[in-house]
Amino acid sequence: MRQLGRQAGSALTQTRIVPAPDDLRLELIGVPAAADIPLEVRFEAVSEGVLATGTAIAPLAGECARCLAPLTSSVTVGFQELYLYAEGRHDKHEKHDKHDKQEEQDAGEIYHLDGDLLDLEPAFRDAVVLALPMSPLCRDDCPGLCAECGVPLADAGPGHRHHAAIDPRWAALQQLSEQGNDKHQDRRAGAIDLQEG
Ligand SMILES: [Zn+2]
Ligand SMILES: [Zn+2]
Repeated sequence: MRQLGRQAGSALTQTRIVPAPDDLRLELIGVPAAADIPLEVRFEAVSEGVLATGTAIAPLAGECARCLAPLTSSVTVGFQELYLYAEGRHDKHEKHDKHDKQEEQDAGEIYHLDGDLLDLEPAFRDAVVLALPMSPLCRDDCPGLCAECGVPLADAGPGHRHHAAIDPRWAALQQLSEQGNDKHQDRRAGAIDLQEG
């Protein structure tokens, strides 16, 4: 069993794989439950307790906010938590809300950390939620879906378009150029006329 003495400044680092907690996700993306999360935590003895500084790589799965394609990714998060020494507890530390509690006097105490990594879950969870993208993209330049027919534009190619699905202002121009009809002429059409004339 690895142990960390109470002497301020002593430290140890633990590396392990932990299962992802449940319900760690936003609307479009999250960490799959029970997914393996590589975690490295450095425990450092400070005067009032143990400072845990963690780094974790969380796998992500979700869907692209633009084209809805499934995507996987990962995010690296860092987090930190201070565990205060619990008065009168020799074998196990306890998270304390009161920072002004008199510190235990026994400087020779050994502080056991194994098995206590679960206490890091809230800090880990907060860090991941902050790091999750609100609008995950399958790729930075994802063109999204065709507004008319819904196909992913990345698949459909740059030439994909619908003649019927033209912005009304452009449709008016198209009508003018196709029919030579100036009945619905507006300012935009007037500009075209100047160019053409
Ligand atoms: Zn996409
Ligand atoms: Zn289309």
